[in-house]
Amino acid sequence: MNGWVLPDEVLRGAPTYTPRPRELADLELLLSGAYAPLTGFLSRADLVAVTRRGRLADGTPWSAPVTLEVPVELTGKLDLTNPMRRVLVLTDTEAAPAAALDVTETWEARAGSVYISGQLRRLGEGPRGAFKKLRMGPAEVRDVLPSGRVLGVIADRPLHRPQLAQLAHAARTIAGHVLIIVPVGGPGPDGLPPEALVRSVLAARDRLPAATIVAVPLSRTGDDVRDALLHSRVAAAYGVTHLLSGAATITAGGLRVVLPRELAYDARDGQWRSRDDVPPHTRRLALTNREIADLQDRGVTLPEWHTPPAVARELRRSRPPRRERGLVVLFTGLSGAGKSTIARGVHEALLEGGDRNASLLDGDVVRRLLSSGLGFSRADRDLNITRIGFVAAEVARHGGLALCCPIAPYAHGRSEARKLAHEAGAGFILVHIATPLEVCEHRDRKGLYAKARAGEITNMTGVHDPYEIPTDAELTLDTAGTVDEAVATVLEYLTAEGWLEPTHR
Ligand code: ADP
Repeated sequence: MNGWVLPDEVLRGAPTYTPRPRELADLELLLSGAYAPLTGFLSRADLVAVTRRGRLADGTPWSAPVTLEVPVELTGKLDLTNPMRRVLVLTDTEAAPAAALDVTETWEARAGSVYISGQLRRLGEGPRGAFKKLRMGPAEVRDVLPSGRVLGVIADRPLHRPQLAQLAHAARTIAGHVLIIVPVGGPGPDGLPPEALVRSVLAARDRLPAATIVAVPLSRTGDDVRDALLHSRVAAAYGVTHLLSGAATITAGGLRVVLPRELAYDARDGQWRSRDDVPPHTRRLALTNREIADLQDRGVTLPEWHTPPAVARELRRSRPPRRERGLVVLFTGLSGAGKSTIARGVHEALLEGGDRNASLLDGDVVRRLLSSGLGFSRADRDLNITRIGFVAAEVARHGGLALCCPIAPYAHGRSEARKLAHEAGAGFILVHIATPLEVCEHRDRKGLYAKARAGEITNMTGVHDPYEIPTDAELTLDTAGTVDEAVATVLEYLTAEGWLEPTHR
């Protein structure tokens, strides 16, 4: 980038760092030009100006704090006064170099971390990931678009008939080419994995007007206004002149917003038309996302009047009925609460039932095999859960049912495990085995409480270390009853929620 010389030896000696997934997605958008006019992570002056005035320091409107935050220790490896010793190599999640950052500024972000900024340069081959052919940069796309108006849509959900009809109508109205931008920077609002979203959009291809489809590493920040602004920025960089978007007033980048018309299905002739033009007795409204998800969970085929069969087939593959979908069941509770005993009982019932492949990731077994070497500090406990959550999510990714029974005392670790399962397209159920400490201590199956009271163990959960009582458990069991009763309660819950065939009795 503008004459920045980067000798090989500087690169070879440079420290490396893997940004978090959202920062990596931002990095790709910066390098590809999708965030134009931004070419790098915000400088300190830009960040201040963006936060205060929604502008960069030079006055250019820009609203999103696109920043890179690194652990403060990393700056110890850099010497900002020496151009040969201030380059940081940013690597992707597989440790392949993605960019070099000539760090010219660092400032405090939070305790323990700093923001860094400076010039960026791409290293390596460019974007990686599935659907490489669709991952075109803005310049490449602008080159292939026909001249004239371009109607853009950010397809963060599958295209059912109402969306297809809206798109066709808008394309006719503005008489332009259609550009469909599929965000692949993270799971969509429905939790659909990015590749599944791309497949579902491709499945609707025959029903689209002449359209170009691109996969762009956009992700959601959780702030709808910020996301809408960034989306319109990126769309503008890709050559969109008119953006079809329900988020009407929110736009940046100088493009026009086209509001989607509210359509209804007319049972008289099977057409989708303006809602007001369809008499109530022949009118069917588009299904809500909740209704679609419910049908999918139960394994009911999405109705043809609403969803093209090819799209429905694709969605059934990516979100199979619950009884076939992967599932992680995480049992949490104090030592001796009964997690392993109950999980074992559930596992045996599943083996007997035979319709589910289940893996039992028992706390002690996991600690011996997967997490040997880890202790019981907060960091080690979180790492233990992360590992279990990772393996469980992989089991569930392939349609399996993973039963895990670590103590999992911290809400943070539990919610990470939930996130990993969802990212794998699987379900997650937290079962809190809420046996009181006195009961666990009285049982003292492994003699751990006695040792803890005698001072031989120093971070026993419930004695020295905290146990954060879950507020998000799908199921809470006390073990006042028998083991069989507890096992039956779990099986009944799983059956009632559709995760098991109703035969496990
Ligand atoms: P954890 O895995 O939570 O550390 P374990 O399952 O290893 O706990 O131990 C729980 C102990 O409590 C076992 O000895 C089990 O027989 C006993 N227990 C008594 N009643 C119950 C119950 N209703 N559910 C589960 N365990 C029970």
